[in-house]
Amino acid sequence: MNSRQIVLASRPKGLPGYENFRFENKVLADIIEDEVLLKASFISVDPYMRGRMNDVKSYASSFQVDQPIAGGVIAEVIDSKSKSFAKSDFVLGNLPWATYSIEKGENLRKIDTSVAPASYYLGILGMPGLTAYFGIMDIGKPKTGETVLISGAAGAVGLVAGQIAKLQGAYVVGIAGSDEKCNLIKEQFSFDDAINYNTSRILKKSIAAACPNGVDIYFDNVGGKITDAAILNLNFHSRIVLCGQISLYNNTEIPVGPAILPRLLTRSVMLQGFIVSNYSNRFNQGLEYLAKWLGEGKLKYTETIISGFDNLPEAFLGLFSGINKGKMIVKI
Ligand code: NAP
Repeated sequence: MNSRQIVLASRPKGLPGYENFRFENKVLADIIEDEVLLKASFISVDPYMRGRMNDVKSYASSFQVDQPIAGGVIAEVIDSKSKSFAKSDFVLGNLPWATYSIEKGENLRKIDTSVAPASYYLGILGMPGLTAYFGIMDIGKPKTGETVLISGAAGAVGLVAGQIAKLQGAYVVGIAGSDEKCNLIKEQFSFDDAINYNTSRILKKSIAAACPNGVDIYFDNVGGKITDAAILNLNFHSRIVLCGQISLYNNTEIPVGPAILPRLLTRSVMLQGFIVSNYSNRFNQGLEYLAKWLGEGKLKYTETIISGFDNLPEAFLGLFSGINKGKMIVKI
């Protein structure tokens, strides 16, 4: 069986480009006991993968130069020597960016495409949905009437986080990069208000205007200047859910400084960073709620689906220029 794969050609300095990826052909061996042959259906591109392109120790291992990029993939079982999987099953796995691959059954999870479309298991019923669920429910813990401010609000995590906060009775304001995204989150995803950070003249004031009672929970997906402006609007005993810092992922030097700490001190702010895998022993609980709310129509969902294996690098790079609304997915 011939497969096409994408390897890390070189490590990016700053913003990645097409030159950091290389397409290769690979001939796959025959499968052996416990293995399955997989045909990729949907491949996820996620901001955290930028960190894996660097040669640094982190919670997710680095990609190796000349080795395939890998991440969340939904694939169809084409052939199986595993007792757990049959031909035509759809599975979720951490798999190489490849049209076909071979994997041990123990590393795969069967997905139920009668519950939701297959691609949803890379988004609302997968890692981003769980991130939103645990970030809001376990760290932010919004109470009725509290104000929740979410950066990266029109993305995979932000859209779900905002809706879950609404379900808890919060007043929810999103920050996103275009008027189109702001209208989308207000009109279709029940956000109470939205701020376009690209057109706001003084973001601190725009946040104050959209959050007349101040901010009780700031769900941070982006960091940088947006977060600086959010922090200036935090209430006494507010919480920061530190989920992501995408605005800093391509920096070659991370700015350091104590600028925001006095503010956190004087407002008695609780700041907690988290990685969704901290909650892996409770994923079933999270997925149960997400599937229930989705089934009841209480959670809405959208994806930006880019077609074609060859467009994987474009989709990944597009995360950093904001071309996606909701979860960015590549359909193979
Ligand atoms: P996403 O929001 O679907 O896609 C990325 C979005 O980030 C873009 O659409 C863009 O939207 C925004 N963005 C890109 N560069 C930016 C910049 N310089 N300043 C401000 N906004 C920028 O991605 P996601 O999967 O939902 O992830 C969101 C964040 O959560 C990321 O930081 C990610 O690393 C983090 N995350 C953390 C965990 C965890 O376990 N802690 C798990 C999943 C994701 P605009 O058009 O609005 O700028």
